[in-house]
Amino acid sequence: MSLLIVGSMALDSIRTPFGEKKDILGGSAVHAAVSSSFFTATAMIGPVGNDFPPEHLDFLKSRNIDLSALQKIDGATFRWGGFYEYDMNQAHTLETRLNILARFDPKIPEALREAPYVFLANLDPEIQLKVIDQLKKPKLLAADTMNFWIESKREALHEVIKKVDFMLMNDSEIRQFMETPNLPLAARRLIQLGSKGVIIKKGEHGALLFTDSSHFSAPSYPQDMLRDPTGAGDSFAGGFMGYLAKTDNATESNLRKAVILGSVMASFNVEDFSLDRLKRLKHKEIMLRFDEFRRFSEFEALEHWV
Ligand code: AMP
Repeated sequence: MSLLIVGSMALDSIRTPFGEKKDILGGSAVHAAVSSSFFTATAMIGPVGNDFPPEHLDFLKSRNIDLSALQKIDGATFRWGGFYEYDMNQAHTLETRLNILARFDPKIPEALREAPYVFLANLDPEIQLKVIDQLKKPKLLAADTMNFWIESKREALHEVIKKVDFMLMNDSEIRQFMETPNLPLAARRLIQLGSKGVIIKKGEHGALLFTDSSHFSAPSYPQDMLRDPTGAGDSFAGGFMGYLAKTDNATESNLRKAVILGSVMASFNVEDFSLDRLKRLKHKEIMLRFDEFRRFSEFEALEHWV
């Protein structure tokens, strides 16, 4: 196992202009782990209630995801309900029923504490801190969050940022958290808090990678098939972390490839509800789309002064 992912496991109820689905497989850890399983051996830790359908666990096992440290808690699984309008970059939360997620107290087994790559998917930052305390110096530690926690657990989130190598946030979240509309400034402020780098996900408009010495902009993908953006951020993170773990290389040029593969995985994830598109995804499609991304952003130097 080279990548450990800790996060939520959920039954989501989602409405988009293209349909409505109730109690479908979701959760930050689930979207991230399925995405990373295309690249590297992945272990996933999250809480499931009594009502979590066993076929979802079978699907995760079929992706070779190590579920040995999953936490089964007596009670109802976490539920998130939301909708999207035609601007699908903006998720509107209708309900967040934490249920057993409120009692999730991850115990990381000895073997998984040594994971070289760790991703803390969207989860209560206080729980993210408890996970960090149990880890034995991973080579690369990254975390994600969302407005729900920015509003309710700001202090704990500050502590998480001090301890991670990379923070992943979407554009509206980092603007809200760093209290500025200016994304480069928001990224700089976040890096000053202690994280080595930040990735800002801009939905259909691409993604930005900032470190204290560099900046990279991943292009947007002309998505003509977009049904449900839920999980885009997590599948991005799964592609990004999965590729870094597979290659065991965090140089600038490899980080850039990882950002593009994150964008590739997110672009597939949004083509259908839940994990349905990733269930059908083939490695060859990942390679072809990576090349498409490369072509979109290639341009040559000017030959003459203008
Ligand atoms: P995203 O990649 O940001 O679209 O994440 C979507 C997933 O996050 C959904 O499948 C939800 O189940 C999960 N989620 C929503 N709210 C929360 C929360 N407060 N804590 C943890 N996970 C959440």
